[in-house]
Amino acid sequence: MSELLDLNLVEASKALKNKEISSLELTKAYLKSISDTSSLGAYLEIVEDKAISMAKESDKKLIDGTARPLEGIPIGIKDMFCTKDIKTTASSKILENFIPTYESTVTQNLWNDGAVILGKLSCDEFAMGSSNETAAKGNVINPWLKNKKMSPGGSSGGSAAAVAARSALAATGTDTGGSIRQPAAFCGITGLKPTYGRCSRWGIVAFSSSLDQAGPLTRTVSDAALMLNSMAGYDQKDSTSANLKMPDLMDYLDKGIKGKKIGIPKEYTQDGISEDIVKFYEKSIDWLRDEGAEIIPVSLPHTKYALPAYYIIAPAEASSNLARYDGVRYGARQEASSLDEMYELTRGNGFGDEVKRRIMIGTYVLSSGYYDAYYLKAQKVRRLIKEDFENVYKKVDYILTPSTPTTSFELGKKQDPLTMYLNDIFTVPASLAGLPGISLPVGLDKSGLPIGIQLIANSFDEPGLISTARVLEMSAGFNFIADGAAK
Ligand code: GLN
Repeated sequence: MSELLDLNLVEASKALKNKEISSLELTKAYLKSISDTSSLGAYLEIVEDKAISMAKESDKKLIDGTARPLEGIPIGIKDMFCTKDIKTTASSKILENFIPTYESTVTQNLWNDGAVILGKLSCDEFAMGSSNETAAKGNVINPWLKNKKMSPGGSSGGSAAAVAARSALAATGTDTGGSIRQPAAFCGITGLKPTYGRCSRWGIVAFSSSLDQAGPLTRTVSDAALMLNSMAGYDQKDSTSANLKMPDLMDYLDKGIKGKKIGIPKEYTQDGISEDIVKFYEKSIDWLRDEGAEIIPVSLPHTKYALPAYYIIAPAEASSNLARYDGVRYGARQEASSLDEMYELTRGNGFGDEVKRRIMIGTYVLSSGYYDAYYLKAQKVRRLIKEDFENVYKKVDYILTPSTPTTSFELGKKQDPLTMYLNDIFTVPASLAGLPGISLPVGLDKSGLPIGIQLIANSFDEPGLISTARVLEMSAGFNFIADGAAK
């Protein structure tokens, strides 16, 4: 059994195509490891029968020579993606019984390429959070450090924990301000947020529409390349979808980085970053230099305004997107004697505290008296942040930063919302600028928790991001397995 779990996505795919293993045995091994690791709480819904029947279909195709790129690969789906006939809750009480009648474009792309669904993965409620603690059904536990209950990060905490615990060969995530990269960093895996527009948002529960972007969480950079190949693509149903063909990312894995310029932004090395992260950040710079890259100090002067701008724009868009949960059109409804009371009870009982906080901030900053002072100002700051990146990309090819200021923290130690928001300090700027970023594990800190480093590329340069990330991955040689992973 364990040999099956040892295979990463690329290796499993090869073994399937060479008929050394079958999708049915691989899928069964993953279903078993879902049950072995169920105490982590990563899955909200397991679709065993569907997984088995999709695996059998894949095995037929593998035998008759019509196998597709992800044929027979069992994966988990963040509960923000609508899946036809499978409950999709966005980890919220208000959607606890919502069964979509349609499939999101990204998940459909994955099924069209032969992937097998294992189930739906927990996340922060409506993807708002950095610790997975805002999930209505409770937090997911990070599989690292078995003797302590650590946060898997958020909002794609279930996705990251499942991949690290080997209860999914890969998973989908969504990233609005860091929700793929931060949990990937906390769980010692790879998380890639593509350029805004690369993956269709159609059928993904909307949080902040100008920032939301889907991407893969995987064990390795090549696994991420293979997943993103299938997930990305133009979609007429999303007006912000980019009509650009994604080159086959697998062709870029071994291109190296000789002569490439890597920018080191001085604003990303201030106080408050853990010592071990600084150490591995410096090591990563050396590794890239040793592989032939030129290291160039750069400045992104508006970085300090990124979080304040994000925490105006994201709640503003969220307050408008979440207006649809009114007890009439979607999800739960609380009966009452008047329409207003029905709205109040439905939304009051259906949403958790963090979601309510965002709705209140959002409606406030959009209200007519404050719109110019907050929302419009934040949009202007967003423009300046984007221009910072545009200026830097005239001089360098990629930017290297830590993914997070600290490694994972203990669950249940109630942090105030502002401290929680600081988790995203290194991921939010690229989100505001719509740029692709990847977090990959490069080492462990003193307590044995994984450290993630982030690479940010220019718009639509996912191929270059993959080549550079692969070099860093090879140099770091991170091959630790979480203590709580399925054996
Ligand atoms: N943690 C950030 C937030 O709470 C980012 C979430 C996300 O990227 N979905 O908004």
